Amino acid sequence: MSPNIICLGEILVEIMRSEKDTHHGIIGASYKGPFPSGAPAIFIDSASRMSKSFNLSTGFIGVVGNDEFGEVVLKKLKSDGVDISKIRIDNSKTTGIAFNQYNSDGTRKFIFAAGAAGQTSPDDIDEEYFSNIKCLHIMGSALSISESSREACYKAIEIAKNQNPKVVISFDPNLRPEMLEIKTIITISKPVLENTTILLPSGEEAKMLAGIKSAEKACKKLLKMGPKLVVLKQGKDGCTIYSSEETNGIKIEGFEVEEIDPTGAGDSFDGAFIVGYLAGWNLKMIGKFANAVGALKVKCFGPMANNSYEEVLKLMESA
Ligand code: ATP
Ligand code: MG
Repeated sequence: MSPNIICLGEILVEIMRSEKDTHHGIIGASYKGPFPSGAPAIFIDSASRMSKSFNLSTGFIGVVGNDEFGEVVLKKLKSDGVDISKIRIDNSKTTGIAFNQYNSDGTRKFIFAAGAAGQTSPDDIDEEYFSNIKCLHIMGSALSISESSREACYKAIEIAKNQNPKVVISFDPNLRPEMLEIKTIITISKPVLENTTILLPSGEEAKMLAGIKSAEKACKKLLKMGPKLVVLKQGKDGCTIYSSEETNGIKIEGFEVEEIDPTGAGDSFDGAFIVGYLAGWNLKMIGKFANAVGALKVKCFGPMANNSYEEVLKLMESA
């Protein structure tokens, strides 16, 4: 199996506070879970669910522990059509766990035990696996979780480009200044940015990477650094796509839905965007499709959604 869309990095389960604004320190308050998670895993699950009608295959490279939490994530990815043959089971570690507390002001607090999630290494990158590659997606979180995971990402880019000079490298710089210094974020992102075809930042991430206080100006500056597209994710307001033909950006409005849980919306959006792009759609259509997938995600509790491509089309037609 050599998939068309590959992503690599951390696989986790998330254990989430059942109610918003419930501090992790409150003794006895309840959590819900485990939910399959990890930004790269959310991406590939979304890409896989959305790509079934386009004959595009998906695969993941990462590491889980030999436990039920690992099984939970493997089962979800497999049932949604992701090739899991390159997900290694490490007997010496537990599957990564993130305890997540979500607040009404939109902020989140994680308590994180990386376990096997940071164990992805350059040795996990097998050249043959990349022989049909069309898109390699890199997540900033996989660059920051460990040095070996970062080196694996850099190696994957090199191999993907060797195997297919036209490969699309997409990059979601989901790096948080609370966790890493901005200088470090810029340094570790540079080798990826230099090879990026489609950059998918949030406003804060664009500002941080470009060193500019306005998200719009930051995206324009980032576009000049080489990507073909810069796709600014704007929460309920949808997205704006910057390209060399549309340097002022094409604004695509979001869908009105009731937000139950925004976890994973950005990663799910990325997966859909890549599928629309590989399907050869125009930018407006791709943006609308990705917005619809992001909107359906926020309507459900937990980091990964279950909805099908047909359900996404239904939402798009209803607007
Ligand atoms: P993440 O925290 O998952 O990394 P992000 O900042 O990368 O998120 P967001 O902009 O929050 O990404 O969400 C991604 C996309 O999901 C948005 O561009 C939009 O299309 C959709 N979306 C997010 N929140 C909402 C919402 N409340 N209503 C409708 N659509 C939403
Ligand atoms: Mg994000």
